[in-house]
Amino acid sequence: MQKPLCSPALCPLGAEDCPLWGETQRLQDECDRLRDLSPLTGLFNRRYMKIALDREMERSRRTGLPTSLIMIDLDYFKRINDTYGHQVGDEVLKWVSRVWRQNLRRIDIPCRYGGEEFAIILPGTRLQASMRAAKRLQTTLVNSPPQLGGRQVPLTASFGVDTFTVREELTVRSFLKRADHYLLEAKVKGRNQICSQKPENAKRTPEVTLDERIALFGPPALPAKGMARKNRPSPKG
Ligand code: GH3
Ligand code: MG
Ligand code: MG
Repeated sequence: MQKPLCSPALCPLGAEDCPLWGETQRLQDECDRLRDLSPLTGLFNRRYMKIALDREMERSRRTGLPTSLIMIDLDYFKRINDTYGHQVGDEVLKWVSRVWRQNLRRIDIPCRYGGEEFAIILPGTRLQASMRAAKRLQTTLVNSPPQLGGRQVPLTASFGVDTFTVREELTVRSFLKRADHYLLEAKVKGRNQICSQKPENAKRTPEVTLDERIALFGPPALPAKGMARKNRPSPKG
């Protein structure tokens, strides 16, 4: 956290009741918020993603609930830029970010990992539920591709899904590496695929209920600027 630029104690006029204090505080809060967001998509950036993943893995160690991670890479995105232009490519990234956010729960943490790569943290979520979430994101692209400038832009993505459970000794780095391995597998298998550890290896225990999640995680992650309350995604099971 930056040192405050302005406070009654630091006021050069020695004003007890500095008139700029409230505004300065508001601007500092806004700077903190923007530092965590990707400018093009409004999703959380890679820096914030690593902090959030570390926090959620620690929460898993304390609560016993798993943390899942979906790594995603848009397929043949270079072709989209080459065919429709870089500006349309940018619009596609914005569209994908908006539509996916609408298809995630409020406690999920969607991040732009870099370029045309995304990472979504699903707190308190087991592998099977994460696979369903990945399927939902895949289906949005396949069934209703973006319409931009009067044209339909066909789009697919590859997904790697992985789950951290408390029984494992795993660092943020090794968790990311493992999820990335499944993403690579999806690419190698021909793209537009979802790959994960074998579901039968995942512990078959009752799913975490929505009430349990809300009790543990409280309010949702930071919504994007300008996203009206009524348009924010509703919690998904
Ligand atoms: P693959 O299926 O193997 O992932 O193929 P790909 O073409 O998606 O992968 P590649 O790594 O060859 O190319 C990624 C492309 O994504 C190239 C790059 O210009 C584009 N890209 C990355 N960031 C942005 C961006 O912010 N805006 C736009 N328009 N394009 C971007
Ligand atoms: Mg890529
Ligand atoms: Mg790609």
